[in-house]
Amino acid sequence: MNILNADLHCHSVVSDGTLTPEALAERAHTNGVQLWSLTDHDEIGGQERAASAAKALGMSYLSGTEISVSFAGHTVHIVGLGFDIHDARMQAGLRGTRGGRHARAQDMAAGLAQVGIHGSFEGALQYAGNPDLISRTHFARFLVETGVCKDTHEVFRRFLTEGKPGFVEHRWANLKDAIHWIRDGGGMAVIAHPARYAFTPNEEYALFSEFKAHGGQAVEVVTGSHSAAEAVEYAGMAREFGLAASRGSDFHSPDESHTDLGALPWLPGDLTPVWELLQHRIQ
Ligand code: AMP
Ligand code: MN
Ligand code: MN
Ligand code: MN
Repeated sequence: MNILNADLHCHSVVSDGTLTPEALAERAHTNGVQLWSLTDHDEIGGQERAASAAKALGMSYLSGTEISVSFAGHTVHIVGLGFDIHDARMQAGLRGTRGGRHARAQDMAAGLAQVGIHGSFEGALQYAGNPDLISRTHFARFLVETGVCKDTHEVFRRFLTEGKPGFVEHRWANLKDAIHWIRDGGGMAVIAHPARYAFTPNEEYALFSEFKAHGGQAVEVVTGSHSAAEAVEYAGMAREFGLAASRGSDFHSPDESHTDLGALPWLPGDLTPVWELLQHRIQ
């Protein structure tokens, strides 16, 4: 059944969102979400709160996270859904992936200082609800708040993307490892927002092939960061690679996100939705 208001991708203060897990659950429920997942970057610290808030509202829940992976010189995001949050390998894997963020943030601040923007490490940290998870988004909020840029998109464009003063090359998790952590805990690995990567067609083909070979099972087709044309394109990739399809807003904040929780088109009717394969993991 593809007509289900599932939102299986969003962020709380436990990573780079601005709402608590409880406030997100309320907002998702108000917006008509029937099946929800909180997918904080490299973190599962909000999972118990999210699951119990969903339960109190009578909304179905799948455990979730969004793992940062390095592939072919780019960062790729792999969403994990429906895994056991107590699985030791998953917990250790995520801890390792989070590990380099502090030093990376200090290097980012050093790069920004060279173009006259001082105190950004401390500034960004003030916006981080979880000091273990300082991200580019927190730097972006600091630079908007201090008047350097008018919005976070401008900060990314001018300062935080490849080749810009605050960008630092970083080695994230390996694709195979991330898929295995998710699968070891009984979950399903999903390629997040595939249209957002700067891959050549060959690199993209390699990503999908390797993802599938390592046990990855799904791709986000309908997401807040895809246009209608991109959803059509990746529905085609799901068919070509025999992958199930996921749907998620990637909501971060009422002030920054253009797609609200649950406010998404339906999945194309011929694709297998991830929730059909994860029935036994739904809480
Ligand atoms: P990080 O994991 O620290 O590299 O931060 C990545 C996060 O930055 C993503 O999950 C998005 O929330 C945010 N982000 C990336 N690119 C942009 C952009 N162009 N505009 C706004 N936010 C972005
Ligand atoms: Mn984010
Ligand atoms: Mn992402
Ligand atoms: Mn995300």
